[in-house]
Order: sequence, then structure tokens, then C-alpha cells
Amino acid sequence: MVRLSFESFKEAWQTGAMLPETTTPAHALLRDAGLRVTAPRLAVLAALDGLPHASADAVFGRVALALPGTSLQAVYGVLAALAGAGLVRRIEPAGSAALYELRTGDNHHHVVCTVCGDVADVDCVVGHAPCLTPSNDAGFVVQTAEVTFWGLCSRCRDADDDVALEAEAVSATGAVGAEGLEGAGRAS
Ligand SMILES: [Zn+2]
Ligand SMILES: [Zn+2]
Repeated sequence: MVRLSFESFKEAWQTGAMLPETTTPAHALLRDAGLRVTAPRLAVLAALDGLPHASADAVFGRVALALPGTSLQAVYGVLAALAGAGLVRRIEPAGSAALYELRTGDNHHHVVCTVCGDVADVDCVVGHAPCLTPSNDAGFVVQTAEVTFWGLCSRCRDADDDVALEAEAVSATGAVGAEGLEGAGRAS
């Protein structure tokens, strides 16, 4: 994880405190990966630090606040370079744009909400890759298993409960009505 909040990056960049020769965890990360330290790369790392599983659009939205001259295309280029160097992980849940995160190399998985598309991390099931063993490996040496769990996030579940409660209330009213009718039928 890069311990550099986006706000602190923005401030440091704007006040000129963050020069390429400075050393922050993000600078060290880039250098250790053999990448040149550039403002857009630092800005993308800082944006992702507070925004896990962000789309390129979302990253661009934050980066543009600090570096107004940056283009979406440039952000795509930076994300590709960071992913290529293993500093950023790219995931692509079905039906979603590619999402980027800084949590790499720990074989973690994701749980995705089928309603709103919210993504959360799920730790590796057994602690090392591959955490699933296929019953038939078809002669392959299996190295990793990328698991996507699908379900309802708590927010969507709460919304769903509200709908269910409303439906219950409606059917309860309906049941009373029917009983009433039945009662009326019996009485006559
Ligand atoms: Zn949801
Ligand atoms: Zn993740």
C-alpha cells in the first residue's frame, strides 16, 4: 500500500514540495519497480490509495483535480505502465469496466454486488495461490485461481428489505381485506 493520501499529494504537488527527487513511499515504489518518477504516475498512485477498485474514469476524475492538464488517455497509459510493473492490479468483473487497485500480490479475491456493482476485497480462501484445486486440471499446472463472488451488498440488501417489508405490508392489508370478505360471506 502506498501511504500517501490524495489530499496530501495534491497539496504537496501544488506547493512544490513533491519534486521528482523527493522520497515518499510512492516515489520509492516507482523507483524500485524501475519506473521513472513522474507527476501523473504519483497522482495515479495517490488517487488509487483512497479509491480501491476504481475505474480509469474515476482515477482520471481525481487526478485531474491535482493535474488539470492530464488527459484520460494519459491516465490509461499510466495505469497500464503501473499494472505492467506489478504496482497496480487490474480486475474486470463481468459487466463492469476494468477496475484498478493497489493491493497486489496477495492473491485476494472480490465480491461484487449484482445490483450496484460495488466491489469489496475477500481474502484468499486458503492463503496462497491457487486457493482452489480443480477436480480435473486438463494437464495444466494450475498457478492461480481468480474467484469472483457475487451477491447483494449491505446497502442493496437494506433497500431490498425495505421493498420486501412494503410488499409484506401490502399483502397483509390484502389478507385482512380477503378475511373481511370471507367473514362477510360466512355471515350472509
Ligand atoms: Zn449493491
Ligand atoms: Zn481488491
